[in-house]
Amino acid sequence: MRLKVLGAYGASDAEHNLTGYLLDDWFAVDAGTLTSKLSFAQQARIQGVFVTHSHADHIRDLPHLIHNRFAQNSGPLNIFASREVMDLLMKNVFNGFVWPDFSGIIAPLSGKPAVVYRPLMPGKKTAFNGISITAVAVDHQIPASGVIVEMNGQAITFTGDTGPTSEIWKRTNKTPNVVAVVTEASFPNDQQSLADETAHLSPQTFGEELKKITVDAPVYASHRKIPFERDIESQIKNLRDRRARVLLEKNYTL
Ligand SMILES: [Zn+2]
Ligand SMILES: [Zn+2]
Repeated sequence: MRLKVLGAYGASDAEHNLTGYLLDDWFAVDAGTLTSKLSFAQQARIQGVFVTHSHADHIRDLPHLIHNRFAQNSGPLNIFASREVMDLLMKNVFNGFVWPDFSGIIAPLSGKPAVVYRPLMPGKKTAFNGISITAVAVDHQIPASGVIVEMNGQAITFTGDTGPTSEIWKRTNKTPNVVAVVTEASFPNDQQSLADETAHLSPQTFGEELKKITVDAPVYASHRKIPFERDIESQIKNLRDRRARVLLEKNYTL
């Protein structure tokens, strides 16, 4: 599978982008960065997007993606999230005040609504366009679920934002042919107490999470906070685990 990393940071400036990933050009995980890095035509090819949680850095481009799709003759965008996360998005974002609820508006060119909401029960595998999607709860400050995507005989795990966690590692360890794990390391080791308070990982706790992962695949640290990205990178290297690496904004072939 091809993983296009559109945004790999937990903050943004001219050279760093918020969380957003694209698998084989048609399935997205998180929407911090989608529209700002994709052409209109590329946006039209996205069939589904999984949202890990409702924090602004993971949904920033979602209203704009929906709006851009509304203006094109593309089928509905399937928005996947755990039931709890979906409820928060409906109540706080797609509520008619922050952004319209496009599921109830027919797009003029396609004659269909621009979005379909697909709430998921955590732990239950859902089939979609030939792939499988399993939401698995993680430990962040608010309801949040990572996702295991199985596509063309390969699997990839995205935790989204999380502090120390367990269920998603158990599921990942039982999933065949995992080719990559994308988790996070937001703060450097000297800000461990901030990482703990905000339910994020540092390289140190990323190292502890690595011990829970038994699959032999690269484990990427995403969501580094500016301006600590270099410190975090060197601390990840110092773990001396050949699987551990930082996630870069580039295209990966897995
Ligand atoms: Zn975040
Ligand atoms: Zn968050």
